[in-house]
Amino acid sequence: MHWVDWACGLLIDEPGQKRPSRTFAYSSTTKPTSIPMTNASAGTQAHDALAFIAKPTPQLRATIAAQESLLSSTDFAGLIGCIRSAFDKFTAKLLEFAPGIERASALHEMMDREIGVVASLPLSCRMGCSGCCHYEVEITQDEAESLREIVQNGFPIDRQRLYEQSTRERQDAAWGRLGNPANRCVFLGNAGACQIYEQRPAICRKHLVTSSPSLCTTQGGAVLPVQVILAEILLSAATSLEGATFGSLPKMLRAALQNENAEPGADVSAGGHAVPSISGGRVRVSG
Ligand code: SF4
Repeated sequence: MHWVDWACGLLIDEPGQKRPSRTFAYSSTTKPTSIPMTNASAGTQAHDALAFIAKPTPQLRATIAAQESLLSSTDFAGLIGCIRSAFDKFTAKLLEFAPGIERASALHEMMDREIGVVASLPLSCRMGCSGCCHYEVEITQDEAESLREIVQNGFPIDRQRLYEQSTRERQDAAWGRLGNPANRCVFLGNAGACQIYEQRPAICRKHLVTSSPSLCTTQGGAVLPVQVILAEILLSAATSLEGATFGSLPKMLRAALQNENAEPGADVSAGGHAVPSISGGRVRVSG
């Protein structure tokens, strides 16, 4: 079997087919200072080969750039064809769901499925390590709606911190100061565990490492993130939906709460509280 056919088998599995056991996952030595969904840096252009994707994740762009230098033009075109098919499939599936909480839940279920292929890798992410919960996290508008409902249903967050984080510019230097308590995600509990784990954003689900958790909080640490190309294609599809918006969690959540003019200071602890169930509940994603 030609490797492009093999890769397509990994990227495009049809309903009812057995999931291939081999994965497209690999480790990279790239040290993230943020875990953005998309690279919104001014002037950054998507790789030409991915022009059919409005907002490819930077990880997907980097993967394609690396493969282009390794593959023949024929094989590279085959790979792009596989990615396009997977992208179209994910886009069509996401469009089956209502925008907002329902589609956020569908995205999370789909992401868990794609990330599941790395279960056999020696992942070092553990409850309580939480280094990645101090990075700049980006979310879709659908996910902002899901988080808004969680908060409006009574989950207490530190609104002062949310307010301060929401005023930062994209990729603000403050996010790069590892261990800075001001960088704590407002959903991170006192024991270093995500308090909304079942409803955590897609980007949190796909951020996994095989290196020591201590490196995630070490300036210049050689973190080894695991990247799954299907997860990157899925996230690219979610952020590229027509009319879809995305941005940093604090900005998006603050806007969703329509809290722009509220006085900061209504602080409450985010630790040790039960998470109210979201009204949309979990959706079933078939196929
Ligand atoms: S939502 Fe949860 S997993 Fe994601 S950054 Fe916040 S605390 Fe961490």
